[in-house]
Amino acid sequence: MSYFDLVDFDHHEQVVYCSDEQSGLKAIIAIHNTNLGPAAGGCRFWDYSNDADALKDVLRLSKGMTYKNAMAGLKLGGGKAVIIGNPKKLKSEELLKAFGRAVNNLNGRYYTAEDVNITTADMAIAHQETPFVSGLEGKSGNPGPFTAYGTLLGIKAAVKFKLGKDTLSGVRVAVQGLGSVGYSLCEQLKAEGAELIVTDINQETLDKAAKELNATVVGLDDIYSQDVDVYAPCALGSSINDESIKQLKAIIIAGCANNQLAEARHDQVLKDLGILYTPDYVINAGGIINVALEIYETEYCAKTATSLVENIYNTLMQVFEKAAQEDLPTGVVADQMARDIIANGHK
Ligand code: NAD
Repeated sequence: MSYFDLVDFDHHEQVVYCSDEQSGLKAIIAIHNTNLGPAAGGCRFWDYSNDADALKDVLRLSKGMTYKNAMAGLKLGGGKAVIIGNPKKLKSEELLKAFGRAVNNLNGRYYTAEDVNITTADMAIAHQETPFVSGLEGKSGNPGPFTAYGTLLGIKAAVKFKLGKDTLSGVRVAVQGLGSVGYSLCEQLKAEGAELIVTDINQETLDKAAKELNATVVGLDDIYSQDVDVYAPCALGSSINDESIKQLKAIIIAGCANNQLAEARHDQVLKDLGILYTPDYVINAGGIINVALEIYETEYCAKTATSLVENIYNTLMQVFEKAAQEDLPTGVVADQMARDIIANGHK
């Protein structure tokens, strides 16, 4: 197999395999593109079935970060890291420090942060070995609430564009996944007067949402067919697929999950059905915008981060308008806009 012929290889600038025998670290760091600035993107700790799956994941995720950072108006390129193995068995201070040294060896071409199974506390340990870590406690911290705020604004933009409404009062939203971002999003939706229908695999969280937010709880498979205006995927990727699309009654899809479309062609399928899809990497950029300020500035400022997150509304409006004018799916248009920024810089 030639690495350069892999489907997910997209002329990544650098892909580094890192290992440390003593701690058991096995990691891959992928730097996709640094045209706009140093690569930035989180580190995921995952028990991949094989190394090829880990490589595929890091290639796709790092490319996604290049597009996300470009559309968020950031002077950052795209990168990502994956640590291979079961975090419950393998995660140790020594391993996280070894990862920190691997990041440090890239001399600032890649900034790491939290992602799945990596916490702010883990990043603090890696930070002992390298300054190229963001999302630290006491600085930008947990990106979840910023991602949730950006997602709320994305839902507002979609509701304005599709339904012509300036308010979320009475708008019905089905939220899949009430985690760090999803729950915070529900709180904000509730405060704006939206009606919530929710699902999660965690019963405790569902009980809390029913009690605190007056949310209607439905089964895992019933979330798609709810009679709502907006479906907000906030759990795992690929929730928009041939099966779920058949059930959807929502005319807007807008949520924080990464890689929402199971296949790229679903972008066109949604357009043909008259469903407005809010491209995932544009709507969920709030967290990386927050992290970016920590990378740029010595003094992190949450207020500045919040005002930058607010740009997500206008960026999405541009995507929706261009897609309507050119009769193209929104995901295709977002990709075109991102590629233009990556090639020519921010205007
Ligand atoms: P999280 O792990 O805190 O929350 C995920 C939630 O989804 C959990 O409550 C979990 O129980 C639930 N869940 C899992 N499987 C489910 C299923 N089959 N049906 C319904 N619910 C299910 O994660 P998070 O940080 O809130 O991130 C959520 C999504 O947003 C992920 O796709 C993540 O990649 C993406 N995202 C997060 C951020 C961020 O700032 N945290 C930024 C960008 C994108």
